[in-house]
Amino acid sequence: MDKQQEFVLRTLEERDIRFIRLWFTDVLGVLKSVEIAPAELEGALAEGIGFDGSSIEGFARVHEADMLVKPDPSTFQVLPWRGDSPVTARMFCDLVMPGGAPSPADSRWVLRRTLATAAEAGFTFYTHPEIEFFLLRQPPQRGAPVPPPVDDSGYFDLTPNDISHDFRQQAIGVLERLGISVEFSHHEVAPGQQEIDLRYADALTIADNIMTFRQVVKEVALRQGVYATFMPKPYSDQAGSGMHTHLSLFEGDRNAFYDPTDPYHLSKVAQAFIAGLLVHAAEITAVTNQWVNSYKRIVGDQRAGEVLEAPAYVCWGHNNRSALVRIPLHKPNKPNATRIEFRSPDSACNPYLAFALILAAGLRGIQEGYELPPPAADDVWTLTEPQRNERGIRALPGTLEEAIATMERSEMVRDTLGADLFEFFLRNKRAEWAEYRRQVTPFEIDRYLPIL
Ligand code: GLN
Ligand code: MG
Ligand code: MG
Ligand code: MG
Repeated sequence: MDKQQEFVLRTLEERDIRFIRLWFTDVLGVLKSVEIAPAELEGALAEGIGFDGSSIEGFARVHEADMLVKPDPSTFQVLPWRGDSPVTARMFCDLVMPGGAPSPADSRWVLRRTLATAAEAGFTFYTHPEIEFFLLRQPPQRGAPVPPPVDDSGYFDLTPNDISHDFRQQAIGVLERLGISVEFSHHEVAPGQQEIDLRYADALTIADNIMTFRQVVKEVALRQGVYATFMPKPYSDQAGSGMHTHLSLFEGDRNAFYDPTDPYHLSKVAQAFIAGLLVHAAEITAVTNQWVNSYKRIVGDQRAGEVLEAPAYVCWGHNNRSALVRIPLHKPNKPNATRIEFRSPDSACNPYLAFALILAAGLRGIQEGYELPPPAADDVWTLTEPQRNERGIRALPGTLEEAIATMERSEMVRDTLGADLFEFFLRNKRAEWAEYRRQVTPFEIDRYLPIL
């Protein structure tokens, strides 16, 4: 038994922990949990706990077999919102097959495998997300309109008696007790919309933290009598919820993206990484923006540029809010903070798969020596299509259907996800699109019934 396992078992006794939740994530990024008694833990750490994968979305058809969840002791935490009676802890798990091999359905493994590839090239991958979400006055009800947002505030607002402000403070308190540092938080542009930015860490820790974050935010909202949603675009006429993600590669404790001699302070490695992201962005969009609704956020009209601030075109720029890849302002005294911001992912993606594909795209750029095109002007949203074509600026997929079609052809995505998970994901998403296509929407009724 290693030190971490010993620590977990000792803490169980010392804190009189009665329940341990084993958490794992399905292919679509939904958190799953099985609760065990303390007596089961030693066995779980050694061999895993069996479960029937066939009843979990994304597992059955990837692999028709029983699977095991094997807790990762480095992720052990007491759940603060459960209180002391009884004390409950949680651990993230890897999914393994009965013989002990990693399950092809395990997105956490997909990320770990991609991180290992980066490590072979000498790189550690760091990320930090800016997570946006909405607080609604009540939970949704089937068939009813979207419940109203909790307030009418906007960007950086602080109004007296502000429920969002109290909410953020409480959520951050819980996150801190779970060992998740928050760097920044504020009211976002749309009514009821919040943003909380996590402090950077290695991508696996951050992906776990995002899963915990969603759970914490939902729990804290519930306790305050409101409802939190990570749906990418709940209101047609307001901004959607993105998960802009800041990225950097380190070689040891040196930021491999930093080069003081470049005008943007970006090293050759950083430039090739960005080039990789741009080349493969369309192929990975079905994963970074995985729902029909995701594409209502990343629309490329001018209003999107002025108000909605979500990227729709494949380009990069220095402090350019319309760009898919933005280079944040460089702080000369902080070379290690050099990073790039990838702005397409939304808050409802599977962070393990999204990070794996982002990293794989960037690594391709480095390995194949992709050339970085010139940065885009500030106003890609205002360009006409011929102007964009002239500059070689392509659009991101405009619908889930387009995104699926682009992903299907990507050997890079297939290699990174593994053939089983790749096929499952596409099958699942094709089915979602087919179901959506059959729907007659309120838009059509309002628009056509009066005139046709
Ligand atoms: N909500 C915007 C998005 O969907 C981002 C707004 C911002 O943080 N500038 O990407
Ligand atoms: Mg922000
Ligand atoms: Mg924001
Ligand atoms: Mg941002």
